[in-house]
Order: sequence, then C-alpha cells, then structure tokens
Amino acid sequence: MPRTLLSIKDLRVYYETIRGYVKAVDSVDLEIYEGESFCLIGETGCGKSTLALAIPRLLPPNARILSGSIMFKNIDLLKLSDSELEEIRGRDIAVVFQNPMSSLNPVLRIGLQVGEPLVAHFKTPWREALISAIKQLSRVGIPDPHLRSKDYPHAFSGGMKQRSMIAMMTSCKPSLLIADEPTTALDVTIQAQVLRLIRELKEEYGLTLLLITHNFGIVAEMCDRVGVMYAGKLVEVGNVIDIFESPLHPYTKGLIECVIARRKSKSRLSQIPGAPPSLINPPGGCRFHPRCLYATSRCTSEEPGLIEVSRKHIVACHNYVR
Ligand code: SF4
Repeated sequence: MPRTLLSIKDLRVYYETIRGYVKAVDSVDLEIYEGESFCLIGETGCGKSTLALAIPRLLPPNARILSGSIMFKNIDLLKLSDSELEEIRGRDIAVVFQNPMSSLNPVLRIGLQVGEPLVAHFKTPWREALISAIKQLSRVGIPDPHLRSKDYPHAFSGGMKQRSMIAMMTSCKPSLLIADEPTTALDVTIQAQVLRLIRELKEEYGLTLLLITHNFGIVAEMCDRVGVMYAGKLVEVGNVIDIFESPLHPYTKGLIECVIARRKSKSRLSQIPGAPPSLINPPGGCRFHPRCLYATSRCTSEEPGLIEVSRKHIVACHNYVR
C-alpha cells in the first residue's frame, strides 16, 4: 500500500475581485502518494494551478483560502507561519513554473541562483554551493556549465532557462516537485527534452511529481494517476490506464474524444459543446450540467459527491457511464 505524502481535504480557494469571489477551487479532496507521478488536467481556468500553488501557499495576494487542510508529511501547511513554511519551500516542496523567462532573477548569475537553495536551507558555504550548482547544471544538460554558470539569464535560451529552473528546484532533492505546465512557454522541439529531464530526475532523486497540464499526451507519457478538474471541482481521479480506457465522467470522456478525434480526422475537430462557466456564479447542482449530454433534472439541483466506482477510480457524477 503506497504511503500518502500529501492529503488535501475540503480545500476552498477563492479570489477576491471587484465583481465578487471567483471560486477557483471549491471543496477539493485529493491524496498524492509517495513516489508517484500525479497529473492534474483540465481546461484553462478550471483551478488546477490554483490548487497546486495553494500547497506551498504561493497564491496571488487576492487569493483567500477559506477552508480545508493540506497535510504534508503529517504537517498542516495551512497552519504554518510564513517563516515555518519558508523552511519547507524549496527544500521539501519545490515548484517549476510555466514561464522560465519570469521565474529567474534577471540580475543574478545563473550559478548563484542554482546554488542559493543549498545556502538557504542547509547553510552550505557559498563555495561548495557553487560547485554543486555547476554539477547540477551539468546534470540538466547545460553545456560548459562552469562557464555558463557565470552568465545572466538573458544569455540563456528558453529551454536552457527552464533547465536551470529545474536544476535550482531539484538542488535540495525535495520530496514533492510541483511542475505547473513546465513546457507551455517552450518551443515544441524543446518540450519533449524538458519532460524527459523531469522524468529522469524524478526517478534519480526519488521525487513525487505533481504535474499540471492540459495536454493528454503529456499525461499518458508522464503519469501514474490523473485528476480531472472542471470549474473548480475535482470530477474524476484514477490511474492513467483507467482514465484513458474507461473514463467515467462525461467531461473526461469529452476531453479524450477531442484528442482521439484530432488524431484521426484531418477535417473537423471534435469539441465539448458550450464553454466553461463563470466561477463567480457557477451553475447550481453539477457545474458541468449546462454542457453535459447525460444531464438529468437531478443534475441541476444536486451536486454530485465523489464516489469510488472501482479500486481507486473515483468520479463525481450522478449518471456516470462505464
Ligand atoms: Fe452530467 Fe449529471 Fe454527471 Fe454532471 S452529474 S456530469 S450533469 S450526468
């Protein structure tokens, strides 16, 4: 039985805006096991990045965590002070962001940035930290790492910047690596290399990976289990084979059909009818009901809870279809 590394219960994260509260993550429960690769997938704006960034509390200033707990190694991260959390961030939980161009400090040399977590968390002397940084840059495939560690970020390509971010974020060998769409801002030719690097480092360092993506191809290649989010809710969780071969939620089915149709047909693309709802006033009952082909009157009034249909395959739907 795998051990739970992260357990999220009843998490609600809303954004305060002048038009009202945006219910970005609404009563989400999720468990992530030690050593696994877990993917969160869903359309843009469904709350997956908010959920992931709530874990190390790296949310924008207008975000409000209204309820819930985030247990990491039996510590509730939501109850820690900022300074206590600062010790965990970067050392036990690290985040690779979408855009490496804005993640690196433009006025600090790359080597200093990659070595800095070792100094901050383990009090490693700077000289040793810089030697480690060069080794780490070499590990992630930066050519001439000794020379290039003295460069500033502007001298690096997008792919090299993201590799440097990954070097920095894995320098302390964290237990949990959160990668928030780590290849979205990169050229297609570089994306596969960066994903391969993340997978290799995960195996080499024994990390647990939480990967955020909207790309089912990446899910199939990288993940053991998948969580599907829709409009701030987790609607289905299962292992990657179950999700691909027997999706239960109509939304998951729709997403997978879109991918299959795109591969098969060169003419017309498949689509899920309608658009994601406003998260300020989401629909009552099941949030997917205005777009769902299987909706019944119950769906408009009663919110479905998550139920376990088969081993570790859970779904939130009144009328799920096998
Ligand atoms: Fe569709 Fe109803 Fe299931 Fe929601 S609960 S996904 S509306 S069938």
